[in-house]
Amino acid sequence: MKREFIFLGPPACGKGTQTSKLAKHFGFPHIDTGSLLRAEIASGSENGKIAKSFIDKGHLVPVELVGAIIKNRLSQDDCKNGYILDGYPRSTEQADLLTKINEEIDKDIPAGFCAIYFDTNTDILISRIVNRRSCPQCGEIYNLKYKPPKQENKCDHCGCELTQRKDDNEETAKARFETYFNETAPLIEYYRNKNVLKTINAEGTINDVWKRLLELIEN
Ligand SMILES: [Zn+2]
Repeated sequence: MKREFIFLGPPACGKGTQTSKLAKHFGFPHIDTGSLLRAEIASGSENGKIAKSFIDKGHLVPVELVGAIIKNRLSQDDCKNGYILDGYPRSTEQADLLTKINEEIDKDIPAGFCAIYFDTNTDILISRIVNRRSCPQCGEIYNLKYKPPKQENKCDHCGCELTQRKDDNEETAKARFETYFNETAPLIEYYRNKNVLKTINAEGTINDVWKRLLELIEN
């Protein structure tokens, strides 16, 4: 059976890592809609040109146009056994469109759709973000709480003073989560009502979550 996955979860919840692992595990394409849109524009296709004209004016690319680009991508041969879609849908309107796209593509193929929701404690995520530091020299990322440097505020490799990204503060982090919850809460409800939502406890190490994820999708 063809398998179709989307991932829902807040920023910094680790879903990016798990998405890539799952794509490798199944040999499915991992389709990130941001990159897809950039590639479409770079290709100079008709859809790409229209998308660019909206972006150049500072407008959002219309839902129908993004839908058409995604439909093209999901119709390609490498998606025939399944795919993992990243960064889409972001609204129930897009979710309706994705359902329609899948119905059109899967007409004669048995397919299983699954939305995986990464459930995690926001306080932990905020503390991950505000404690993040990086080395301006080599780019190594540290976390004062979870992966501290050996010497206080100095890079283990180059001894440089570590710096903090400007948006890695509590206020910005909270605002990002608020946007996320406003956007995603309706989607969680949407997919729960359709009986295709699976919730995963996203706390713990990458391996802990990976094991849970495999278990979840086999059931
Ligand atoms: Zn360094």
